[in-house]
Amino acid sequence: MKSRDSAATARVPVQDKPLVLIVDDQISNVKLLAAILGDDYRVRIATTGPDALKLAKTMPQPDLILLDIMMPDMDGYEVCRKLKDNHATQNIPVIFITALTSESDEEMGLDLGAIDYITKPLSAPIVRARVRNHAILKRKADLLESLAHIDSLTNIANRRRLDRALLQEWRRCQRAGASLALLMIDIDAFKAYNDHYGHGLGDVCLTKVAAALAAGLQRPADTVARFGGEEFAVLLPETDIAAAALMGERLREKVAALRIPHAPKRQYEHVTISVGCAAVLPGALLNPQDLLDAADRNLYAAKSAGRNRVCTG
Ligand code: GH3
Ligand code: MG
Ligand code: MG
Repeated sequence: MKSRDSAATARVPVQDKPLVLIVDDQISNVKLLAAILGDDYRVRIATTGPDALKLAKTMPQPDLILLDIMMPDMDGYEVCRKLKDNHATQNIPVIFITALTSESDEEMGLDLGAIDYITKPLSAPIVRARVRNHAILKRKADLLESLAHIDSLTNIANRRRLDRALLQEWRRCQRAGASLALLMIDIDAFKAYNDHYGHGLGDVCLTKVAAALAAGLQRPADTVARFGGEEFAVLLPETDIAAAALMGERLREKVAALRIPHAPKRQYEHVTISVGCAAVLPGALLNPQDLLDAADRNLYAAKSAGRNRVCTG
């Protein structure tokens, strides 16, 4: 008989297999679980609580953690508590693997945020079925999470994602004593474009501009988001105002280089953008909204000065 497991293995590329972290101080248990799951999952192993916590944070992070309860020094309950206390690991589902079978043991694990329980002695089909179900749920949750942060028209980050990244980078740059920069970008005379070509082609234009902005970013931590309507924002961590202005100019040129014809008989031959730049050293006297406001003021200044330009105030 051709096993279901080997058929699945043949179809799924290794890097797409869910990553399971197995945590157990007894190497024989680890080996058994790894043998049960090894065909369908990428497997990582930890034999102590602290190692498990470290691996849970290491990229690529596990999709699922199988966690033994009885371990010396730091037991599984403690590991689970720490995983759920840390925002970097709290969304990774934890399944307890345990010889403890009392109702109160089970209740305690579930109260700590574990998603399921598997009892020893292990049954290979039960382990496979439970892990498969939770791995599928985790994939769906990840997909929903990513869709909730993407603008559906342009496929770049949305406002919600920008707000979150801004807060995160604000704190990180504050700790590092580094400058945080933001660009506010608005398409010039876009109302005229829409009036001439219609809303549908307006949408196509927005998508092209978004892609050009995204292609112009240079560092992984830089984020471009659709801020709303025909406005975009670019977050540039560890960037001062001079570097931000250079980036603004680079993006302005990228959009101009698309050479999207603008409405005829208008002031502008091609679609262009105006850019307002701001940079701050995040500190106690300022908040992220101040950075947004400063960039917005400079965007307004760029518009007043004639559009298709970068203004740093
Ligand atoms: P300015 O150079 O001062 O920015 O002029 P503008 O015409 O670009 O600015 P205004 O705010 O007057 O008009 C913005 C236009 O952007 C009007 C609106 O219909 C259009 N717009 C906003 N969101 C969308 C969208 O999702 N799709 C399309 N097609 N158009 C949009
Ligand atoms: Mg505009
Ligand atoms: Mg606007």
